[in-house]
Amino acid sequence: MDLDAYRQEAEAFVSALDREYYLHFSGQRQELEIEPIYERHAELVSARAVEALRAAGSRELLEFAVQGHIGRETEELAAELARREASLEVTVDGRTLPFRQAPVAQANEPDPDRRAAIEAARNELTARELDPLLREVFERTRALVRELGWESVLALCEELSDIDLRALCARSEAFLADTDGAYERVVAPRVESELGFGLDRLRRSDLPALFRAPGLDRHYPAERLLDAYRETIDALGVNGRGVRLDVEERPQKSPRAFCSPVRVPDEVYLVISPHGGREDYEALFHESGHAQHYAHVDGSLPFEQRYLGDNSVTESFAFLFQHLTSDPHWLGERLGVEDPSELVAHSRASKLVFLRRYCAKLGYELELSSAAGPLDRLRDEYARRLARAVRVEWPRETWLADVDPWFYAARYLRAWALETHLRRHLRERFGERWYAQREAGALLRALWREGQRRDADELLADLTGSQLDFEPLLAELVG
Ligand SMILES: [Zn+2]
Repeated sequence: MDLDAYRQEAEAFVSALDREYYLHFSGQRQELEIEPIYERHAELVSARAVEALRAAGSRELLEFAVQGHIGRETEELAAELARREASLEVTVDGRTLPFRQAPVAQANEPDPDRRAAIEAARNELTARELDPLLREVFERTRALVRELGWESVLALCEELSDIDLRALCARSEAFLADTDGAYERVVAPRVESELGFGLDRLRRSDLPALFRAPGLDRHYPAERLLDAYRETIDALGVNGRGVRLDVEERPQKSPRAFCSPVRVPDEVYLVISPHGGREDYEALFHESGHAQHYAHVDGSLPFEQRYLGDNSVTESFAFLFQHLTSDPHWLGERLGVEDPSELVAHSRASKLVFLRRYCAKLGYELELSSAAGPLDRLRDEYARRLARAVRVEWPRETWLADVDPWFYAARYLRAWALETHLRRHLRERFGERWYAQREAGALLRALWREGQRRDADELLADLTGSQLDFEPLLAELVG
């Protein structure tokens, strides 16, 4: 197989897909036309290409081809799922909303019983309308994985990601045990303060409102968002030439910030609709971490090191920037917050809930992806694990809708770990105000140049000699 020719075509394919996503979700094009792109590059993700790449021994390209192959084979189901999801409506107390808008309405709803009603209606629709299709996608994926010669999705993911998922799962279980004792102390005061009741009355349907935290909106004004971002990038001296900021208002534009690396490093879109509020700041800074990372990658690196590899790395840079929005010094300096303690405490509580949720998800997804035989008991397993981690009753209906493809949950967990190590290193070398030092920016630029040539473990070992563990994260969250 001519690997260079393969790389070239794969890059054209990924670039075309990203451009299509960018145009659709930035509200510039109504249609999302993925099928013709797959059509044009069908051979890239054929079973024959998978075989040839296996023989050629390129793990990253093989992972890309396998995921692409399964994506293409299940594409009609995915399209049907998207169509159905887009057409569903949730009706609560005589008020009707599009299914996809319901989470936003739920997060903004001040009445806890109405939040619960919206969520119950969504879950009911998920079980009735989406679950049969999700199950088909799951079964079809499982069959395709076996056809390609792996015994399970778990076996495939472990081999192609080169991540020991079972070891990570064991560390996640330890993390759950190590944070059990502090959970109430960290989370309860924030529930009380934002929602007005105790942890004992918290329901799953309240979590989006907890994360949303409207009580903190005054500290995160919409009109400061872009300037705070620009000042931060300028102070670090890290404005990548390829970053194209898309702030134009369009009726169909996604309300949530996203990054689309259409051509790495030369054309990377950072798309936002500034609304203000804690989550909006977090989202913009998160996506800007991705955008700056991609825009600084050395253009002479091969395709797989610029676009593929261990996404724990790009996610860690995203988390690093996201974290600034709850850094007490940054808050004072960029947003003029005089007493940041409430914001810091809220971010810590939210992060603990998130991390424990992802630890539980990883354990569940591990079971799901290696399950043989009937799947039904896994619904209970899903609800049991999540309820234990987050300490609220957890619905069974989202047991498939809540699954991240190809163990993306593992990348997030590794990214949170890497980010805490990285941030500790930056603080030790450049001080508490590392985010305003050019030297810190130079270090980041040097790391970004490599794209994802090294995985998260290698990057950290080379930078600090440390192992990628949850220790600094534990110290920060419950220490
Ligand atoms: Zn991300």
